[in-house]
Amino acid sequence: KSPVPSDIDVAKAHTPKDISQLVGEIGLLPSEVELYGKKKAKVMLNILKRLSNRKNGRYVVVAGITPTPLGEGKSTTTIGLVQALGTHAKRNVFACVRQPSQGPTFGIKGGAAGGGYSQVIPMDEFNLHLTGDIHAITAANNLLAAQLDARMFHESTQTDSALYNRLVPSKKGVRKFSDIQLRRLTRLGIDKTDPSSLSEEEITKFVRLDIDPSTITWQRVIDTNDRFLRKITVGQSPTEQGKTRETQFDITVASEIMAVLALTTSLEDMRERLGKMVVASDKNGGPVSADDLGVTGALTVLMKDAIKPNLMQTLEGQPVFVHAGPFANIAHGNSSIIADKIALKLVGEDGFVVTEAGFGADIGMEKFFNIKCRYSDLVPNAVVLVATVRALKMHGGGPTVTAGAPIAAVYGEENLELVEKGCSNLAKQIENANKFGIPVVVAINKFSSDSVNELELVKKIAKSSGAFNAVICSHWAEGGAGAAELASAVIEATAQPSEFKFLYPLDLSLEEKITTIAKEIYGADGITLSEEAQKKIESYTRQGFGHLPICMAKTHLSLSANPSLKGRPTGFTIPIRDVRASVGAGFIYPLVGTMSTMPGLSTRPCFYDIDIDLETEEVLGL
Ligand code: ADP
Repeated sequence: KSPVPSDIDVAKAHTPKDISQLVGEIGLLPSEVELYGKKKAKVMLNILKRLSNRKNGRYVVVAGITPTPLGEGKSTTTIGLVQALGTHAKRNVFACVRQPSQGPTFGIKGGAAGGGYSQVIPMDEFNLHLTGDIHAITAANNLLAAQLDARMFHESTQTDSALYNRLVPSKKGVRKFSDIQLRRLTRLGIDKTDPSSLSEEEITKFVRLDIDPSTITWQRVIDTNDRFLRKITVGQSPTEQGKTRETQFDITVASEIMAVLALTTSLEDMRERLGKMVVASDKNGGPVSADDLGVTGALTVLMKDAIKPNLMQTLEGQPVFVHAGPFANIAHGNSSIIADKIALKLVGEDGFVVTEAGFGADIGMEKFFNIKCRYSDLVPNAVVLVATVRALKMHGGGPTVTAGAPIAAVYGEENLELVEKGCSNLAKQIENANKFGIPVVVAINKFSSDSVNELELVKKIAKSSGAFNAVICSHWAEGGAGAAELASAVIEATAQPSEFKFLYPLDLSLEEKITTIAKEIYGADGITLSEEAQKKIESYTRQGFGHLPICMAKTHLSLSANPSLKGRPTGFTIPIRDVRASVGAGFIYPLVGTMSTMPGLSTRPCFYDIDIDLETEEVLGL
């Protein structure tokens, strides 16, 4: 259709097939799904056991060049490619995407279900509560936060023996440690199971977590852009006896529990990761974990449904897993390992799974390879790198592109010089993907304002810069048909033997690992560490976390740390302001410059356009 209607109008014009029909089409048994109404289902993890002997399909990751704040169509291309592989190449396919946060949905960016004729439907359910996974994360995160403050309060107001009597109560005349408490005793080196046999000294060691409040890294979360929660004081009621403390809220998708959900491989593994999450240090500098706070089992129970991937469909009826949605700047920005693993089994040896990595290839793709693939043991076969003429013009020196502001005239007229200059960014991101030994197919996502000369120029430069292939595609305007050539290129690229390798080995020091990413991927001369960052690196290394991979928290708007440096910047260093640890999720995250973990609302957020039709109950304006 020309012109292409709005995303929600396209989505609404299609009636999704009954999800139980899709379940049958892709070879799931009715006992392996839990239906959530007629359009969504959760898939149980026991499917992995039934299909354990089946070979995996080919594994494709969609990444992008350094984007403008408007997004260059990675989600749209993920869905468009899956539609093309399914409808036109007649292959078994699966798309795996992240669940969007309500922050951006109601804030600036709007939905994330793709766009035009390449979308996940029903897009309103996709963009809103889905099956409640994000709410479960909020609940789990805040239970841990509540217990952290409560425990410090109880320790400060009670004697050792009073604490012990309450923590190990006598039930029907019997005193028993819980499983979580037995694990804590083992960690403390106390080899006893009978609560009456602990010495006074051992009781003190057992009951006193002795949390140093200045070291607390665990924050409360809410999935709303709420700038006034960036700094708060808790404990102001007289009942807390003056134990006030300054703290903050983060947005839910920045919670470590979201990263755990995305990186876990089984229910057992999730419980272990949740238990290992470090929330603070004690007064001797030792780590205090969720396990120490006794909350691991309860967190796992709150997350037991969230761990099951959510099945939805594309506009052309192919299956989509929507599962987990960690932010790509402060977390690792990739959908779940579990969804990818199930999808790879379901499509079988000749099938394709297309998964998306958030933001530019320097951020989402680097973390996909070095963190996600390391924990999943999955070997990717190809990278699809999405580029747009618009973003390349910006990299070539075009005026700043800002969300919500009118776009400058140069973006609507042919300008080969800007495009050519901006291709420096494309070339660097191709080089980055090639460093992992994976063939790169550049998908040039065509906008109606692009000229043929501009598109052909990008294609030529991409091919001469080390891409396996480069294809102009129009799936936004035409659905799968517009990405048929991209699908052929991906089939050809994935037929090559994968020579996948990590960028760095885990046994390098934390500083060496950070430096490797900065130099090799960003093109920096090196890094500088603040005093705080240096101190944290020493402390995490001492606590035994030096072997973890790195998750850089850096702006996505430049290869450098400065969002205004476009193209392929040179002659810069990466300043590391602070370093944090997500021990349960399994990474160390250096903070580059000022990265906020709680977005705010602008003067006119997207929600001004959102409403409901009272007759049909249809969602409007999403
Ligand atoms: P990303 O995943 O890279 O952030 P999205 O796929 O979410 O980007 O696309 C961002 C927005 O741009 C969506 O609203 C989508 O409809 C729109 N869009 C994507 N590709 C095109 C295109 N070729 N022409 C016009 N609009 C597009």
